[in-house]
Amino acid sequence: MVTPVLQTDIAIIGGGVAGLWALNLLRQRGYSTLLFEHDALGSDQTIGSQGIIHGGIKYALNGAFNTGSQTIAAMPAVWRRCLDGEGDIDLRSCKVLSEDFYLWSSDRPGARLNSFLASKLLRGRVAAVAADDHPPPLRHSNFRGQVYKLNELVLDVPSLLEVLAAPHREAIFSVDWRVASLQLQRARATLVLPQCTVAAQCLLFCAGAGNETLLQQLGASGPAMQRRPLQQVLLKHQYREPFYAHCLGNRPSPRLTISSHLTRTGEPVWYLGGDLATAGSAADSQQLIARAAQELQQLLPWLELGQCDWRSISLDRAEPRQASLLRPDGAYVGAAAGVDNALVAWPTKLTLCPQMGAAIEEQLQGRQILPKYQPDLSGLAGMERPVAATPLWDALFP
Ligand SMILES: Cc1cc2nc3c(=O)[nH]c(=O)nc-3n(C[C@H](O)[C@H](O)[C@H](O)COP(=O)(O)OP(=O)(O)OC[C@H]3O[C@@H](n4cnc5c(N)ncnc54)[C@H](O)[C@@H]3O)c2cc1C
Repeated sequence: MVTPVLQTDIAIIGGGVAGLWALNLLRQRGYSTLLFEHDALGSDQTIGSQGIIHGGIKYALNGAFNTGSQTIAAMPAVWRRCLDGEGDIDLRSCKVLSEDFYLWSSDRPGARLNSFLASKLLRGRVAAVAADDHPPPLRHSNFRGQVYKLNELVLDVPSLLEVLAAPHREAIFSVDWRVASLQLQRARATLVLPQCTVAAQCLLFCAGAGNETLLQQLGASGPAMQRRPLQQVLLKHQYREPFYAHCLGNRPSPRLTISSHLTRTGEPVWYLGGDLATAGSAADSQQLIARAAQELQQLLPWLELGQCDWRSISLDRAEPRQASLLRPDGAYVGAAAGVDNALVAWPTKLTLCPQMGAAIEEQLQGRQILPKYQPDLSGLAGMERPVAATPLWDALFP
C-alpha cells in the first residue's frame, strides 16, 4: 500500500536540547518543522548535564585562547538575553538555579594562576571574591585558598526542556523504529511512518549518540562520531546550602565540579563532575564513590553533609570525531555524506546551542532552503507524544 506523503520544510530526529532548540528557532523563522523522538525528550546527555552555561574559563585555564574560547565566552550573555525574553528563543519561564558559578583553588593558588585570572583577557568574566562573600561551603575559618566568581550561570535542565517543548507540542511526535524507517532514493532521504512518508526539504539529525545509527541506516559514511565517557557521582545529603563551583587542583582542568539540585521531594543532591568523572569513567562505581567521598572530605572537611546516599552514573558525550579524541571547540553542523537533504548536528555543549542554531540557519541558507510547505498534521494525530525524561536525581533516588 502506498502511504500518503507529508511535505514539510524540516524534520528533526532527536528531542534533546539540540533538537528542541532547533525546533524553536526554525519554527520561529517560518519553517514548518516537525520533531521525532524515540524515547523521552532530553534522554541521554541533556538530562545528565549539569546545566552550566559556560563562559569557557575552565577551558582557558591552560592559558590557550582560540576561536572556540571566544565563541563560548559570548554564550552566557546570549543565554541571558533569551532568559530576559530578548534573544532568539524565549526562555523567560526557564528556572535559573544560579546566576553565578564559583571557582576555588584547593590550595594557595600559584602566582601564574592568579595573574592569569586577573589578566585583561578575562576582565569582566572573573572576579576575586572577598572572604565575607564566599559561598557558604567555603565560608569557614579553616578555608585556605582564593575564590573567584565566574560570569557563568546554571539552568535547571528539566525546566529548560519544558520551556523548549511546551510551545510546540503539536509538532513533537514519538517515533517507533520497529515500524518506521529512513529510506534513501536518488540521494534524498525520507522518514517512512506507518501513517505517511515524511518528505522534508531538510532532515536534521539531532540525536546525540543516536546520530551514528541514523547515518548508518542511510548508508552515509560520515561525519564520524566520537564518544567521550564520564562517570558522574551524585550524593543526596542534608546540607541545605546550594553550591555551584569548580575546584582547581594542580591540573589545568577542574579537579571537581559541583552543582546542586533538589529531588521532587525537596531533598538536596550534589552532582559531581570534573576530573573525578573523566578520570573515573571506567572505574568501579563503589570505588569511584569512595574516591568522591574522599575528595569532599579533603576539600571541605568542615562541612556537615549529614546522612549521605551515593550513586554514580556513566554517560557518553557524543561529538564529531576529533584527532586524539580531543574536545571539539565549537558546535558542529554538517552534511550527511552522500545524502542531499540531511544535516547532522552536535552542539558538543548545551551552552553552544545558540552557535549550533546559527550554523543550522547558515547551512539552510547556503542550500537555498526557504520556508515553503504548510503541512496538514491531521494525518499524524494518532501518533504518540514523548514525555520529558525524568531528572537524574529523581530517577536515581526514587
Ligand atoms: C554528564 C554530562 C554533563 C554535562 N554538563 C554540561 C553542562 O553543565 N553544560 C553544558 O553546556 N554541557 C554539558 N554537557 C554536554 C551537553 O549535555 C550535551 O552537549 C547536550 O546535552 C547534547 O544535546 P543533544 O540534544 O545533542 O543530545 P542528547 O541530549 O543526547 O539528546 C539526543 C536525543 O535524541 C534521541 N534519539 C537518539 N537516537 C534517536 C533516534 N534514532 N530516533 C529518535 N530519537 C533519537 C534521544 O532519545 C535524546 O532525546 C554535559 C554532558 C554530560 C554527559
